[in-house]
Amino acid sequence: MDDAAEVEQTAVKIILIGPPGAGKGTQSQLLQKCYSIPQISTGDILREAIQKETPLGKKAKDFVNKGYLVPDEIVIGLIQDRLHRNDCRKGFILDGFPRTVSQSDALSNLVVIDAVISLDLDEEEVLVRLAGRRSCPKCGKPYHMRFEPPQHNERCDTCSLKLIQRVDDKEETIRQRLFEYRKNTEPIIRYYDEKSKLIRIDARGTKQEVFNRIVATLQYDHI
Ligand code: AMP
Repeated sequence: MDDAAEVEQTAVKIILIGPPGAGKGTQSQLLQKCYSIPQISTGDILREAIQKETPLGKKAKDFVNKGYLVPDEIVIGLIQDRLHRNDCRKGFILDGFPRTVSQSDALSNLVVIDAVISLDLDEEEVLVRLAGRRSCPKCGKPYHMRFEPPQHNERCDTCSLKLIQRVDDKEETIRQRLFEYRKNTEPIIRYYDEKSKLIRIDARGTKQEVFNRIVATLQYDHI
C-alpha cells in the first residue's frame, strides 16, 4: 500500500511502543498521513521545549540528554494537556507514551485506546540503527548513514548543512535508554497484552515493509 493513501476511518487511537531506534517516529508519521490524525511524540515535545528553554525544557533537559525517563508527573501532565486539544477528537497516534505502567494507568483514565502496536527489534539491530541516525539541523530531514545516506558527505541533500546526531544517540546514552526500556517499558507490553490490545509487528526491513505490515494488521482487526 502506498504510504500516502488514506484509509477510511473514524476516531482511531493508537499507541506505538518499541525500543529506541525501532522506527516509532517514522511509522507514526506514515500513520499520521494515512489516517489523517495527529502524531503525538513526547520525545519531540520534550526536545522542542529543551531547545526553546521553556520551563518544561529546563526540567526535562538532564533526563533526556542522559537517557533517563522524564518523571511520570511531568509527561502525564503534558499528555493530558495535549489530548484535550481539538485535533485529537478524530483520534491520535501516541509515539513514545506511555513508557511506564503508571503512565499507562493515567492514560486509561483519560481515553480508551484501540490498539497498541509493539515494534519488535532485537538489540543488535537497534544499536546499528541508532548509531547511524542523523538529521538536518535546519529542515529536520532524517538520514541513516548506512540505509539512507545523504548524497554528499554528511550534508543535507536540500539544505547542504552538516548533519547532526541526537545528543542521546551517543553510545553510552543509548545503553541507558535500552536499560530504561527493558526495566520500565517492556512491562507495559504485558499490560496491554493482558487487555487484548497488543499487536506485535516485526520491525525489521524497510520502513515501507514495516508500514505495510502495520496497516494490514490494523485493517484485519477492523481498526
Ligand atoms: P524518544 O524521542 O521517544 O526516543 O524520547 C527521547 C527521550 O525523551 C527519552 O529517552 C526520555 O528521556 C524522554 N521521554 C520521551 N517520552 C517519555 C515518556 N513517555 N516518559 C518519560 N520520558 C520520556
